[in-house]
Amino acid sequence: MNPPLLGQEMWALLADLYPICRSITGDGVRATLRRLQAHVPLTIHEVPTGTSVFDWSVPKEWNIRDAYVKDSRGTRVIDFRESNLHVISYSVPVRRRMALAELKGHLFTLPEHPDWIPNRTSYYDESWGFCLRHTRLLELEDGDYDVCIDSSLEDGNLTYGEYYVPGSSTDEVLFSAHVCHPSLANDNLSGIVVAAFLAKHLPPPPRRYSYRFLFAPATIGALTWLHFNESRLPRIRHGLVFTCLGDAGGHTYKQSRRGDAEIDRAVKVTLRDQGTPHRIVPFAPSGYDERQFCSPGFNLPVGCLMRSPQYPEYHTSADDLDLVQPQALGASLATCLEVIDVLEHDRRYMNQSPYGEPQLGRRGLYHLRERGGPTAAELLAIKWVLNLSDGKHSLLDIAERSGCQFRYVKTATAALVDSGLLKEA
Ligand code: ZN
Repeated sequence: MNPPLLGQEMWALLADLYPICRSITGDGVRATLRRLQAHVPLTIHEVPTGTSVFDWSVPKEWNIRDAYVKDSRGTRVIDFRESNLHVISYSVPVRRRMALAELKGHLFTLPEHPDWIPNRTSYYDESWGFCLRHTRLLELEDGDYDVCIDSSLEDGNLTYGEYYVPGSSTDEVLFSAHVCHPSLANDNLSGIVVAAFLAKHLPPPPRRYSYRFLFAPATIGALTWLHFNESRLPRIRHGLVFTCLGDAGGHTYKQSRRGDAEIDRAVKVTLRDQGTPHRIVPFAPSGYDERQFCSPGFNLPVGCLMRSPQYPEYHTSADDLDLVQPQALGASLATCLEVIDVLEHDRRYMNQSPYGEPQLGRRGLYHLRERGGPTAAELLAIKWVLNLSDGKHSLLDIAERSGCQFRYVKTATAALVDSGLLKEA
């Protein structure tokens, strides 16, 4: 596992997925999932339009081949082939000639960022429109324009991908990334590639937990998966939603609705141990699919791992390949693997010699030295693990209370088990 090298591979996959025009349904999602299948053996599910999922129903399927606005000389002044952000996602088909005044009612720009194309959607409202640079809007001359949106909005399917890796128990860890954004890099392609590479680079078996990776369109995709998997939900012990994991900012972790779930504590200790700037923010019912997983009927222990949750380029053409850095992708993957390491090893033990401190020198424990690690930190961890291993405190409890890094608590525990001083409770 070499995060810098993997970061480059992750960026290459992200760049490969970037041009695809995704939406909440349609061939863009299918093409994305098929490319992911080169990395992860995903199962692709198709759910028909009209299927009821809780308070929602699966919408019509949207596909688009081309779209443009041509001026009187026949020049494409707005061209879907140049950027798929130019068309509002879920725009109904249009073929009309109209005057600029009428056309302007369907044009959207960002005057405060005149060179960026905004990203807009009209999923549940049958309308149409174009997004463009404000500078381009100002260039449009009065006159008639030919407007074409060669799209289809018909009964079809909602598509999502899923990959399940069984472990020693049927208790599950759920990782989820949305797959519905067109050419936007940080939101949401970075989350997709981190999830895909995590699936590819899970620690080798034996693994305590089973792992499930979900690649689904935001909101309706997560709800559809929840609908078809209600009987499985009690098995979900921990979960993370991945998004915005490729920018240069430090990590932001948004806690689950519970706030004190083991996943919340595991991520907090992992980020603490990394010692780099990060933020922990409480749950709020806005954001990504944690809104669905943490709705009151489910209240699953699912948080959201990000880097910068808010950035000026969000949902614009400036959220492009330049915003996403291979190093950040690789480091995000490494963070996820560290969180998994905490979850896999967070067990309770019993000190087998609890009357006074046991003699460590006689058992060779003073000579324990993790390569590169300071002996003092390891020794301190040994003392804490011995003291708190009363069958009630887990290793995560010990890392939190002692301030010792989880990796030292883990290596101390392994050494103490080897010496016979500790047994799993
Ligand atoms: Zn988004």
